[in-house]
Amino acid sequence: MLSLLFINSFAQKHGDTLAYERLQYVQDLKNAIAGKVWKDFENDRVTQVYFTDSSSYFFNADTGILQKVTQKTSPLKRIDMFKTKRIDENPFHMETAVELTDSTALYFQKPIVMFSDFETARGKVSDLQSLQQWASMVVHELFHGYQLQHIPTLKYSNQVIHLRGSQLQKLFVEQKWFAESIQIENMLLISLLKVKSGKELRKGLKQYISLRDARQKRAESILDDFSINENFYEKIEGSAKYVELALLENYQYFPENKYLLRNDPAYKENAYQNFKLDEEPWQYQTESINYFYSTGYNLIRILDKVKADYQ
Ligand SMILES: [Zn+2]
Repeated sequence: MLSLLFINSFAQKHGDTLAYERLQYVQDLKNAIAGKVWKDFENDRVTQVYFTDSSSYFFNADTGILQKVTQKTSPLKRIDMFKTKRIDENPFHMETAVELTDSTALYFQKPIVMFSDFETARGKVSDLQSLQQWASMVVHELFHGYQLQHIPTLKYSNQVIHLRGSQLQKLFVEQKWFAESIQIENMLLISLLKVKSGKELRKGLKQYISLRDARQKRAESILDDFSINENFYEKIEGSAKYVELALLENYQYFPENKYLLRNDPAYKENAYQNFKLDEEPWQYQTESINYFYSTGYNLIRILDKVKADYQ
């Protein structure tokens, strides 16, 4: 009995430590990849809630948000981490929440990035193999948090954007002409990434724009304001994908996390050591994920290629 109690309290303490080490790890990864590919995202702080089976951990939390949370612990480990009972019973979190009108919402006017722990995510995301893969999903969400901390973006998304991403994807799934055009457009973008001559690139981009214009025009007759909605989703999701894939590409240059390597069975040594984006084209083709992630991602790579100042 005594030894059992001892084990339980050890597990609890260990649980807090593991939560902290994972959260800090994600934070370090985020800053490292931001330093390489999206400077302004480096050192950005957004409120994060990490969900385990029984608890919610607030990390980097905004003080106004924390005031709304009752029954929280004092800061854990003398750092900016608080623990509560689970703030909801949703089976899975991997999203960024913000609410502009309901002032009672925890995330009123300030985004909160919410994510389940690896153990829960593994049951919901097919083929989730490592903590590093999970961390790349969390960094993707942190980028949305960063985007929605930008007040003009937040207002625009609330006042102008009225379609859901799933409505755009429904067009892709149900309208053959739409899917065909998207596939041609996206393959064209991918092929233009390899083009060396400026003349050929300009010609290809002109062709891309005319295909896109024709498709958007036709889609307008099905969904109101289709174009501005699609443009928005491509920017938001394409850029988050851009940071996420850059992280996968850069894992091989980051040192292993010594603590997690020893203490976290989800953390895999040498994960993504040999990752080459070219060998995983499904990451930026339109079949495996919502199409606008892929087109948005490839559009950003084109902007990189022409050295446009877009960030
Ligand atoms: Zn996203």
